[in-house]
Amino acid sequence: TKHVSFSSRFLRDTGYIDGVWTAGDATRTFDVLNPATGEVLASLPDMGAAETRDAITAAHVAQPAWAARPAKERAAILRKWHELMVANADELAAILTAEMGKPFAEARGEILYAAAYVEWYAEEAKRIYGETIPAPSNDKRMMVIKQPVGVVGTITPWNFPAAMIARKVAPALAVGCTVVSKPAEQTPLSALALAVLAEQAGVPAGVFNVIVGEDGPAIGKELCGNDKVRKISFTGSTEVGRILMRQCADQIKKVSLELGGNAPFIVFDDADLDAAVEGALASKYRNAGQTCVCANRLYVQSGVYDAFAARLAAKVAAMPVGDGFEAGVMVGPLIDDKGLAKVESHVEDAVSKGAKVLTGGKRIKGAGTFFSPTVLTGVTSGMQVAREETFGPVAPLFRFDTVEDVIAQANDTEFGLAAYFFAGDLKKVWRVAEALEYGMVGINTGLISSEAAPFGGIKQSGLGREGSRHGADDYLEIKYLCIGNL
Ligand code: ADP
Repeated sequence: TKHVSFSSRFLRDTGYIDGVWTAGDATRTFDVLNPATGEVLASLPDMGAAETRDAITAAHVAQPAWAARPAKERAAILRKWHELMVANADELAAILTAEMGKPFAEARGEILYAAAYVEWYAEEAKRIYGETIPAPSNDKRMMVIKQPVGVVGTITPWNFPAAMIARKVAPALAVGCTVVSKPAEQTPLSALALAVLAEQAGVPAGVFNVIVGEDGPAIGKELCGNDKVRKISFTGSTEVGRILMRQCADQIKKVSLELGGNAPFIVFDDADLDAAVEGALASKYRNAGQTCVCANRLYVQSGVYDAFAARLAAKVAAMPVGDGFEAGVMVGPLIDDKGLAKVESHVEDAVSKGAKVLTGGKRIKGAGTFFSPTVLTGVTSGMQVAREETFGPVAPLFRFDTVEDVIAQANDTEFGLAAYFFAGDLKKVWRVAEALEYGMVGINTGLISSEAAPFGGIKQSGLGREGSRHGADDYLEIKYLCIGNL
C-alpha cells in the first residue's frame, strides 16, 4: 500500500469534537483504503471511548441553546448546509468514490440524495406541529407539544457514506437535537467532509460531532452507556443492531434501527418484461449490489422465466466493471476482501447445489476487490442466497407458479425491509402489495428511495422511519400538557 496524492479542500485527517478538528488522546492511527486500487487514502486517529465521551459532553452542553433557537434559524442553517453540498457535489462525490468505490456518477447521485434530506428537514423544521385535544370536562384544556429527545448518537455503515449521515443528522438537528456521529471505519472521509460544510453553514460548535475510529464496539458502548445520550440511531447489520438494542436496554434509551434486508423481487407473467429487466438492473446492481434494499431473491413466474433470464443476462454481461473514476463504469469494486469472499461463497454454494451461471460468477483478478456481475438460474430455497443477504452483484433467479406460492416464499424470512414486484393486473397489484410483509414495496419499479418517503423495515429489519414527515418523529418526544381549574 502507498499513499496517493488525492486532494480536496474537504479532506480532514482528524475527528471533529465541539467545533475543533482533533485527534483527542488517540495515539494510534488507522488507514482508509481505496477499494478499487488498495491504495491508502488517509491515516486517521483511532479514537475510542474517551473521545466519544468528550463529544457527548460537548453535544450535551450545546443542546439547550440549539433547541432554543427559533426553528426558522435552524432551518436557515440546514438550508445553507444543503446548498453547500449541492455546490460542491463533484468534490464530495470524488471523496466518496475514492473511499467507497461506487462509480462517480452514482457517488454524485448519492451526494444530491443526501443533500435532499438536508433540504427536506430544513423545511420540516418549521412544521413540528403539536395538537389540541377537546377535553372531556369544561374546566380543563389539553394539548400536545413536541420536543427534541436531546443528544443523539448515530452509527452508520460504509455503503452510503454521505446519505446515511444526512438522513439521521438532518432531522435530528432540524428539531433541536445535537449529534455525536460515528461513521464506518471504511468510509469516514465523507462524514468529515460533511462536517466541514456543516461548520461553514453555521452549525454551532458541539451540535454535530464526528468520532473516527476502528473500534466500533468501544465507541458504541460509550454511546449506549452514557446517560447524556438519549437516543441511538443505527444503520447496519441486524447482528450489531441487536447488540445496540441490548446495550440501550439498561437506560431504556430510544433506538431507531435500519437493519439488514433480504428483498424479494417478483416478476409475474403479465409484467412489462422490459420494465422488469430495467428494475432488476437498478435494484440489484446499483452500488455493486451493496445496499440493504437491493433485490436479493428474484422470483420469476414460469411463463416468463426463460425470457426474463435471457434478457437480464444479456444486459448484465454488457455492464462495464472497473474503477469508479473510469468513464462509463457501472459496477465498482466490493468494499473489501470480506465482502468479496461472501459473494464468492454464495455463488459457489448455489452452483454446488445445482444452480447454473448464465453470466459472471467469478472474482476478477487484480488489486481491487471486483466480482463480475452475475445471473444464476435454477436457484432453489435450500441455497444460501435464499436466506442471507449476498450484498454483491449476483441475481439468483427462482421459478414460481402461483401467486400464493410466491407470497409465501417472499415472506419466509425474518427480514422485512424492501420488496419489489412487477405485474399488470390491478387486482393482483393490490393483493400482492398488501400481502408482502415489508416496510417498503416497489410496484413496477426498482427504485423507491426518496427523501419524501418513509424508509424503514418491519420484523428484524428495524424500528423507526427515515425521511418524510415521519422521519422527524424519531427525534421527538411527545409532551402532554393539561391545564386545570379553568
Ligand atoms: P457492515 O456489515 O455494513 O459493516 P456493521 O453492522 O458491522 O455492518 O457496521 C455498521 C456500523 O456499525 C459501522 O460503523 C461499524 O463500525 C459499527 N459497529 C460494528 N460493530 C459495532 C458494535 N458492536 N457496536 C457499535 N457499533 C458497531
